[in-house]
Amino acid sequence: MVKPAGDSSGTATAQARPADPFDAVIRASYGSQGIAEDRSGQQHECVYRRSVGRPYCGDRVRLENTEQNTLVVAQIYPRRNEFARADRMQRKQVVATNLDRVLIVIAPQPAPSRDQAERYLVAVHSLGIEPVLVINKADLLSGEPPADTPFSRLDDYRRLGYAVVEVSCKGEPGVDGLQAYLQQATTILVGQSGVGKSSLANSLIPDLELQTGALSHSTGKGTHTTTTTIMYTLPSGGRLIDSPGVWEYGLWDMTADELAAGFIEFDPYRGQCRFHNCVHHTEPGCAVAAAAANGEILQWRYNSYLRLLQQST
Ligand code: GDP
Ligand code: ZN
Repeated sequence: MVKPAGDSSGTATAQARPADPFDAVIRASYGSQGIAEDRSGQQHECVYRRSVGRPYCGDRVRLENTEQNTLVVAQIYPRRNEFARADRMQRKQVVATNLDRVLIVIAPQPAPSRDQAERYLVAVHSLGIEPVLVINKADLLSGEPPADTPFSRLDDYRRLGYAVVEVSCKGEPGVDGLQAYLQQATTILVGQSGVGKSSLANSLIPDLELQTGALSHSTGKGTHTTTTTIMYTLPSGGRLIDSPGVWEYGLWDMTADELAAGFIEFDPYRGQCRFHNCVHHTEPGCAVAAAAANGEILQWRYNSYLRLLQQST
């Protein structure tokens, strides 16, 4: 049973079930059922029908009341995009849909592996969603950042056109720098375990626990909030999606095309290589390699591309 927002007493309250079909957004999905929010902000438990399919967190749906007084998802509206993660077997798994932004969280501890930021940026690019590079634990970055890491290259990222925001959940500069990217938008947090995603969600959503309680679905086996993707409401009105384990197993294998497209500074050279199927490696007449050699493309980015290319083939 869903508790209305603001009720932390744990008592189950009866739901008003509108007689007419209405539109809602899925905020949490549990197997064959989920919790959807209507336009007025009210939460509704709903069940899925095999014929319609299983909606994901972020899906816009049409809900219909049945004769048994159960709300069912009668329609899933077309998605603007699908955000996927890799599972243990490196297969793509959709976790959320209709996103505006992805906050790629990295931190000095645990240190990102080499090329990790590039892999994240390429993956977000391939999904057609805007990335924000969030440097968490900035409080641990006093002094000169370690060389040849994303932390020493923040200005390079900014010059490439990426939004880069340094934050800390434990000290200066706090998390306010993120606010501008969260308003009126649906955003998802990604990054490896330990970089501070839960801490960020806690800092940004003062009533996170209350919302979690209202969106948890109780079954005989207990609640499943620790394994479920949940869409939270931010005080500013935006939405923040927190999904356990997103990209913890790494990313799916990318094609050479996907990879090159994700290195956005290669764009001006597209179509300029001698061979139309050039992967910008050792081919003669490669415009990208030439641009890297003469400094128009950052050498460290090109080297990163080459390493990722090797891993993808
Ligand atoms: P998650 O696995 O990405 O959700 O990371 P957590 O939010 O659980 O944070 C992992 C650890 O990093 C915890 O011990 C946090 O207290 C710590 N942590 C999170 N944010 C910061 C920060 O901004 N600065 C410092 N120094 N520690 C942080
Ligand atoms: Zn080329």
